[in-house]
Amino acid sequence: MGKASIAVGLARAVHSLHGLSVGDAFGERYFRPDAAERIQGRVLPEPPWSWTDDTEMAISIVEELGARRRIDPDSLARRFVERYTPQRGYGGGAHDWMAAVRAGTPWAQAARQLFDGQGSYGNGGAMRAAPIGAFFAGDPQRAAEEARLSASVTHAHPEGQAGAIAIAVAASLVSVRPHPPGKALLEEVLPWVPPGPTREGIQAAAELDPASTQEAARRLGAGGRVCSEDTVPFALFCAAHHLTSYEEALWTTVSGLGDRDTTCAIVGGIVAMTSEIPLEWLKAREPLPDLHG
Ligand SMILES: [Mg+2]
Repeated sequence: MGKASIAVGLARAVHSLHGLSVGDAFGERYFRPDAAERIQGRVLPEPPWSWTDDTEMAISIVEELGARRRIDPDSLARRFVERYTPQRGYGGGAHDWMAAVRAGTPWAQAARQLFDGQGSYGNGGAMRAAPIGAFFAGDPQRAAEEARLSASVTHAHPEGQAGAIAIAVAASLVSVRPHPPGKALLEEVLPWVPPGPTREGIQAAAELDPASTQEAARRLGAGGRVCSEDTVPFALFCAAHHLTSYEEALWTTVSGLGDRDTTCAIVGGIVAMTSEIPLEWLKAREPLPDLHG
């Protein structure tokens, strides 16, 4: 990459981060008991919309890309720990990982210890991966490699990494025109994803009726188990079929309920590359901090 294309790549990654963080903060507002009616009536939350761990970790990824033009797992692990704000709604595994690394355990060992020694197959690698694809626009192979590295810092299980790969590849593919729409996007993502339940879910998602969001949420899961396989296929389904409207994409995604800050973060990070983030939504979101190199 020459200097000019690095700057363009970083601008794209920052743009994806805006989409991701608006989605994260939007979805997070619909965990209240009256969420279903408010989603049905498309009632926007009262500002400010605070972002959560999805955004906080994605900020570290964008900073890493800005500083090194690639993901160095040692450096990314340090950034995750430095930025860690426990009140941002991290999952249990992430809290455990942060505590272990802060206490001096090497990050790889801390990652292997999670989920009873299997390594995490949670959706945390995927929730922060879209900006990687935006940075490596049109280069799905590189996006897949860097996404795997970015996830491996906290997600030692191959499924935790597969979800991140799928999301980064989708973001990479839609960041150049003409991009594959709908089912074609899902089919183009598939060969990059290592075999396993996440990939099988994406395959199933490609066969579902684009208009049947509730059926998709039921069949694929919408993150209720906060793992890659029950989060990534539904998020990709929602993104792929709503690339031309950020608002439609996010209302559709949040209607699946489930792990809605994360599904909306994933979708927002992808769909920001193909449609406008509404200004009102950007203004409602809690501001992002200054990014460091
Ligand atoms: Mg979150």
